[in-house]
Amino acid sequence: MVLPKPPLTGACLCGSVQVTVTTPPLLTFACHCRDCQKFTASAYSLTTMVASDGFSYTGDLIKGGLGSEERTHYFCKSCLNFVFSQVAGADHRINLRTSLLSDAASFEPFIELMTDEKMPWARVPAVHSYARHPESLEELQMLMDEYSKL
Ligand SMILES: [Zn+2]
Ligand SMILES: [Zn+2]
Repeated sequence: MVLPKPPLTGACLCGSVQVTVTTPPLLTFACHCRDCQKFTASAYSLTTMVASDGFSYTGDLIKGGLGSEERTHYFCKSCLNFVFSQVAGADHRINLRTSLLSDAASFEPFIELMTDEKMPWARVPAVHSYARHPESLEELQMLMDEYSKL
């Protein structure tokens, strides 16, 4: 896996939201959960986790999806393309939707989550698979360490 070097840029479907990532991504993953299937109108979602202080955007966002106290999902106000999510208590990173990146094809998922709910025909070339999620923050950190050495 040869990863493009930051800065990484990307845009929503209509182009009114532009995103920039200036630090190396922390982790990439596919999520097979039923919510993500509905969110993305597809078999799974693709996420590139990045440090909040390495992420910026221009344009207008609105909140959407199944907003909760734990998770906030941001969409382009114009085309309603899914842009990123923020998880409460993990404010130092955001989950950017990989498909927005210009180099999206380069960020293949390093791990896959929620294979319990996977569409049986869906195949992802992930190095690590989880029936649900990593059990602990320590395990997540180990995955990020391993990803950073790619
Ligand atoms: Zn848009
Ligand atoms: Zn999911």
